[in-house]
Amino acid sequence: MGTRITVEVSSEDQQAGQQAIAAVMAEMRRIDRAMSPYRPDSELARLNQHAADRPIPVSQELFALLQRALSYSRLTNGAFDITFASAGFLYDYRQHKKPDKAALYKAVSRISYHNVVLDPATHSVHFLKPGVKIDLGGIGKGHAVDQAIRLLRKRAIENALVTAGGDTRVIGTRWGRPWQIGIRDPRHRNKMVAMIPLQDVAVSTSGDYERYFEENGVRFHHIIDPKTGDSARTLQSVTIIGPDATTTDALSTSVFVMGPADGLRLINRLEDIDAIIVDSQGVMHYSDGLEPASK
Ligand code: AMP
Ligand code: MG
Repeated sequence: MGTRITVEVSSEDQQAGQQAIAAVMAEMRRIDRAMSPYRPDSELARLNQHAADRPIPVSQELFALLQRALSYSRLTNGAFDITFASAGFLYDYRQHKKPDKAALYKAVSRISYHNVVLDPATHSVHFLKPGVKIDLGGIGKGHAVDQAIRLLRKRAIENALVTAGGDTRVIGTRWGRPWQIGIRDPRHRNKMVAMIPLQDVAVSTSGDYERYFEENGVRFHHIIDPKTGDSARTLQSVTIIGPDATTTDALSTSVFVMGPADGLRLINRLEDIDAIIVDSQGVMHYSDGLEPASK
């Protein structure tokens, strides 16, 4: 997944704890092998190679995650859209590479989640246009974290934290106290803007500081507005708190694209979901569920 994984478990039985951590790491590698767009033999890469030519059957797991991704596209009016990759693959943030206008224009015409058709009867995936590409970078780490937590629970681990990049889920406590998560200051690597205590929830942060380069004072980063194929620039970071990491992962990316007003309106409408937003001026905004505590 090209990202840092943290697993912390507390268990009376040291060996059981170590084995549980090893099992989580193996699970993370398994998911990466299936869903990485960079491995030519992954299930996801096969879709990008062939699904525009014909429907391609996929595993139950990938099919279900694609269904979930499309449901977030509908919920967010297309702000969350895995076909962003049709333009996204033209960027290379490490090499400071971005598409020219003509290439971007062509790529944007291929972005639309409506171009991804899922057939539940055959578990197959079909892209309606040539040139459509998908990438699960906005939801896959959350899914991996949820899978890890499921696996830990099956092993009777009751207290744990699992993080993949910006996506975390905790169960139980850390030696009797709530787990704590820091929200980074988007413009100061070693500073925090908030610490939040957590119990049995997931938290995801999306930020414009994770993968980016700057050109003439403009920041090109990895969260793409599907309408333009360009980076979304109304926010610096979005943190979502919710019941599971697949949800918080998808929604943090979504709200980043939607911006402060539409984003908070969506979050305030959803049960059990909260948001902490740092806008482009560095000003913090909270969803209704957090407002009293933050004052
Ligand atoms: P996150 O850190 O969870 O916000 O994920 C960022 C990743 O989501 C990017 O690296 C892309 O792989 C993917 N992504 C970027 N823009 C979008 C979008 N509009 N909808 C869905 N996924 C996206
Ligand atoms: Mg996300």
